[in-house]
Amino acid sequence: MVKDQTTLTFYGGVNEIGGNKILLQDKDTKVFFDFGMSFTAKKKFYSPPFLSPKNEKSLQELGILPQIQGIYKFDQTSPETNAMFLSHGHLDHSAYLSFIKREIPVYCGETTQTILRSLSETRRADLEFDVGDINFNVFRTGNKIKVDNVVVEPIHVDHSIPGAYGFLIHTSNGTIVYTGDFRDHGAKPEMTQEFVEKAREVEPVAIVTEATNMTGATVSNEVEVEVKLDKISSQVDGILLAEFGYSDVDRFNTFYRIAKKNNRCLAVSLKQAYLLDALHKDMHLQVPALDDDGILIFRKSKKRYEKWETKLIERFDGEGKIFDVFEVSKQQCKMVLAVSFYDFEELNNIQPVAGSCYVLSASEPFNEEMEIDYERLVNWLSHYGLPQYHVHVSGHMMPLQLKAALRKINAKQVFPVHTENAELFKKFMGNAAGQVTLVEKSKEYPL
Ligand SMILES: [Zn+2]
Ligand SMILES: [Zn+2]
Repeated sequence: MVKDQTTLTFYGGVNEIGGNKILLQDKDTKVFFDFGMSFTAKKKFYSPPFLSPKNEKSLQELGILPQIQGIYKFDQTSPETNAMFLSHGHLDHSAYLSFIKREIPVYCGETTQTILRSLSETRRADLEFDVGDINFNVFRTGNKIKVDNVVVEPIHVDHSIPGAYGFLIHTSNGTIVYTGDFRDHGAKPEMTQEFVEKAREVEPVAIVTEATNMTGATVSNEVEVEVKLDKISSQVDGILLAEFGYSDVDRFNTFYRIAKKNNRCLAVSLKQAYLLDALHKDMHLQVPALDDDGILIFRKSKKRYEKWETKLIERFDGEGKIFDVFEVSKQQCKMVLAVSFYDFEELNNIQPVAGSCYVLSASEPFNEEMEIDYERLVNWLSHYGLPQYHVHVSGHMMPLQLKAALRKINAKQVFPVHTENAELFKKFMGNAAGQVTLVEKSKEYPL
């Protein structure tokens, strides 16, 4: 039976940061917005790599992958979902595309496609991230994509990964706004402002908003981060180790500039170099080419390199651009080395000289690409005599800015997601901008 109403069902992003999986039904049209991995639910049961899910059955059994008809490639039913839209390429919004029937069209920004392709080319496909064979349909800001009864309009927003979008979703019962993840204190706040303005103009009946930062909010921005990093970089005697999101291109650019300013080179991992090389071709981003003087490529010590790694090494080897641990070790005071906690074994060969520093330039202890094992991190830093600076701004809106944006958009109903503090959010919002509904997982909400 075809219902005449429009409904929203939240299969993820409920009482957790990330894992968004939002189903919109309009009469007989079904569209999903994001289909991410839920780090919180997964962490309850698993601790990779030794305790990892073996198949989708256990993920469903444990409630990590929701029970939904006509969507998964492992069930034999015919597809019951018309399309899927990705707000951006963070894994907590995109990774579980892995399980989706390949005949369901997936829409995303061009940059998101590049990022997900690079990621799948540089890491071994596993159960929870295998998107190499997905045929993405790419969109740009302002496109209007018709999916049966529904028209979806993506509008760019600023976030800690390039190619992030919010959506205006025009349904037969009014327009719904979905913010995805967004902020207004990053490198391109004007994109978020434009999104808020467009969302206001359509007089939405409902908004699904992220509400990540209800505790531990700060007042800062990407410009201030650059000033602070510059100050640190100018005073460090030895090597400056920098931990930041692999796909956080704005932060990469910030480190690239402060390194240059202080006569250092920024050395990135092979994996990050691979992504930057792909993003450099994106005309809408300003990513320096790998052959830029300010960039080096750090080759970790290992016995066997993957094919894509060998290719990259061969391409740049003649230019003196590929550095191994020993070369890094010899030129410590000329280097900002992008590291991940998982590379810390390399410190044994680098042997940071006295006066070296470590900067955590990602959210602690959680970020949208990895979990930082904080206690162990502290032990490693202490062993090598590396003080830790935390210089970062979040990828998410701060409470007062979020309230102002929602007040401006003025939707009738507000559904907070991507937060562990929905009740706090509701109290804080009061009657400022629409009726706030605290959502329950898998429950259907009519508009
Ligand atoms: Zn997220
Ligand atoms: Zn995100």
